[in-house]
Amino acid sequence: MTDTAENSPIDGTVLVVNAGSSSLKYQVIHPGDEEVVADGLVERIGETTSKVTHWYRGDEVKRECELADHQAAIALVLELFQDSGVDIAESGLSAVGHRVVHGGRSFSQPTLIDEKVRSEIERISPLAPLHNPPNLVGIEAVSKLLPDVPAVAVFDTAFFSDLPAEAANYALDREVAEEYAIRRYGFHGTSHEFVSQLAAEFLERDLADLNQIVLHLGNGASASAVRGGTPIDTTMGMTPLEGLVMGTRTGDIDAGIVFQLSRVGGMSIDEIDKLFNKQSGLKGLCGENDFRAILERVEAGDEDADRAYRVYLHRLRRYIGAYMIELGRVDTIIFTAGVGENAAPVRADSLADLEGYGIVIDPERNAVRNGEPRRISADDSRVEVLVVPTNEELAIARAASSVARSAR
Ligand code: AMP
Repeated sequence: MTDTAENSPIDGTVLVVNAGSSSLKYQVIHPGDEEVVADGLVERIGETTSKVTHWYRGDEVKRECELADHQAAIALVLELFQDSGVDIAESGLSAVGHRVVHGGRSFSQPTLIDEKVRSEIERISPLAPLHNPPNLVGIEAVSKLLPDVPAVAVFDTAFFSDLPAEAANYALDREVAEEYAIRRYGFHGTSHEFVSQLAAEFLERDLADLNQIVLHLGNGASASAVRGGTPIDTTMGMTPLEGLVMGTRTGDIDAGIVFQLSRVGGMSIDEIDKLFNKQSGLKGLCGENDFRAILERVEAGDEDADRAYRVYLHRLRRYIGAYMIELGRVDTIIFTAGVGENAAPVRADSLADLEGYGIVIDPERNAVRNGEPRRISADDSRVEVLVVPTNEELAIARAASSVARSAR
């Protein structure tokens, strides 16, 4: 039997879609009670064998088949729901929330998608040529199959759209910067906003009273300084390449290296782009970007892994120091994402020897692993140091549901 909106387990939920160039991640989430109803990943879209993993209410289905494009991928996902007896188009989804990486200067809020919004996202795509085009393909594909469900774009840049001028501007010729929309936009905003709000709830403090440093350390990594819920600085810039050392990205680099590689190395811009984004960072330094493996190698005395780890920490500590000065007073430091939530040595080493600044980690608390927000600072630490698991899908679901409700 097919579910109808009245008795559907999907009723009131949000379909969250994160479309990459050859992948599609999705979740169906109830934004109120935070229940994840379904979860899935389609990989290798456009190749001869695409891989699909679909989970719905405890049942997992794995498939390998040929999926020519994102629309075929989404059609298959809807079919998998159908196999479980759920007609997703008729089942009372309240919204579709699309993760869109770059909102440029045009979008500072989650936005209901219509034709105008779609063409604006397309217009600013040159700012994020690897990310926005697949995000748009996901938007098109879902809207063809679910035309009656309100679709909302949630931008990675939105949280940082009001960065103060001194943090948002590069010291570049103003006319050139204006013409090419070159400024610091910041990314991972959905995560930085989510964990900074959750930290205030956890501490039972008013967000407006807190000065926070947020460290989103995953394969991509970024830090931000957040005063009273509003970011005043962040490490990623016009693109997600700037700032911290990441899994495969350089982070901050002397722009003169581009001239050197081009003039002396004869490399093309596309080759340099690939080198900086895909072959650098931890991977470039030690051949590996899985932090678990790096920590094991450091433990075993591997020199390359040790150098990579020290470069990573050096950059991270430099930004923590910078944000302490920018904020003037720091109340909380938050670790989140894959490395931040799981790698206790990174947390301990990045905040080592800062007792003079009121930052003291409790080793036993730091060793605890669970999926809950938790305090890892000692009782006598003036700064509260927290691990707050991020949940970008839930944040997107909440934003999409709220925009769709107010548009009704
Ligand atoms: P994310 O991009 O947030 O999914 O984070 C991915 C990163 O988290 C990868 O570098 C993983 O190696 C790292 N990671 C996940 N679990 C652990 C762990 N238990 N210890 C160290 N690093 C981890």
